[in-house]
Amino acid sequence: MKKLLFTVLFLPLFSFGQTALRTDIDQSATQIESKVIEWRRDFHKYPELGNQEVRTAKIVADHLRSLGMEVTEGVAVTGVVGVLKGGKPGPMVGLRADMDALPVTERNDLPFKSVNTAVYNGQETGVMHACGHDTHVAILMGVAEVLAGMKDQLSGSVKFIFQPAEEGVYDVDMAGAELMVKEGVMEDVDAIFGLHIWSQIEAGKIGYRSGPFMAAVDNFKITVKGTQAHGAAPWSSVDPIVTSSQIVMGLQTILSRNVNITAAPAVVTVGAIKGGIRNNIIPEEVDMIGTIRTFGDEQQELVHRRIREVATHISESAGATADVRIGIGYPATINPPDLTSRVLISLEAAAGKENIIAMDPITGAEDFSFFQREKPGFFFFLGGMKPGGDPVTTPSHHTPDFFIDESGLIIGVKSLSYLVVDYLEMKK
Ligand SMILES: [Zn+2]
Ligand SMILES: [Zn+2]
Repeated sequence: MKKLLFTVLFLPLFSFGQTALRTDIDQSATQIESKVIEWRRDFHKYPELGNQEVRTAKIVADHLRSLGMEVTEGVAVTGVVGVLKGGKPGPMVGLRADMDALPVTERNDLPFKSVNTAVYNGQETGVMHACGHDTHVAILMGVAEVLAGMKDQLSGSVKFIFQPAEEGVYDVDMAGAELMVKEGVMEDVDAIFGLHIWSQIEAGKIGYRSGPFMAAVDNFKITVKGTQAHGAAPWSSVDPIVTSSQIVMGLQTILSRNVNITAAPAVVTVGAIKGGIRNNIIPEEVDMIGTIRTFGDEQQELVHRRIREVATHISESAGATADVRIGIGYPATINPPDLTSRVLISLEAAAGKENIIAMDPITGAEDFSFFQREKPGFFFFLGGMKPGGDPVTTPSHHTPDFFIDESGLIIGVKSLSYLVVDYLEMKK
């Protein structure tokens, strides 16, 4: 029954108009492929950290202007937004690319190896597009050119959102996407699409997931306060080290005993624990910091509540106190199932049905979720691994050996362009 309904609902997608638009996209995407690769290599050679993407933003803004778009610069510090008005009335689709690089020193031997350095957290470091955001910018510039070339046939508008600081910025609380939303970028947008290049998926393939896809990330700090004493007389102390050890073990039960792991996974990791100064002194205080990954508001609320309860009650039982602070980071990236089932047709057409992979949830986070909280949004992964490569041994994102096979970039241009025209045709 469901399948029949699906067929009836989406048959109009395969209109003659749309087939013609897809043929136009295929042609321009092939023509533009070498330019996209050139742009990508240029951004790769001159990467910029979050909220410092000045050179990148200028190249983007000049390009969008040359295509006849209305362009706004300096959005959310260094972001660029361009609007392409179609020849016919219709909704506004948003497309997003993040522009920032990371404080990583590149080890790849490439003609376009990064030459930039910076000071990060008081430390001199190389700067590298070690998450592949250079490919996102180049692909979206390509999409802008492809769609600008056929704007008269578009039944609606496209907003090109080039976002700074997806990776977060040292000492700044707000991610680029969150600030863009605060500045009103999503107000006139009806739906938004975005992609992430992925070094563990073969070039030519696309990965996606319906529903919760990437985790929400939050951090916590627990300070356990006891009573200091001589290490030789522990009975006169309230020992925060023993209490903290119990808390670390207690936190493990949140995932094994409280979270319904058949519905969605979750993570609570204590990443650092600090207390004491000498072998024979029981200190007064211990600090613990850690990260939390969850998939959805209800699960997030449960995990936060249990962290507070476990830390406070274990401390109480020892005669100590616990101060628990939870910092809220990025929400979960959730692809609405109805939108996902609709856009899948576009992805299959762009990459070939056999090249679409349904993925497991990812415990990494993505600030695209801030856009998704405003309007329906779909986020997917674009393959960037050498075909035939081994995902286990291929260097992962954020490492000095991170590498992208550029043969998949054209699939990125095609898939985002298809998503736009298919969405606009469907809403006609
Ligand atoms: Zn990253
Ligand atoms: Zn990234």
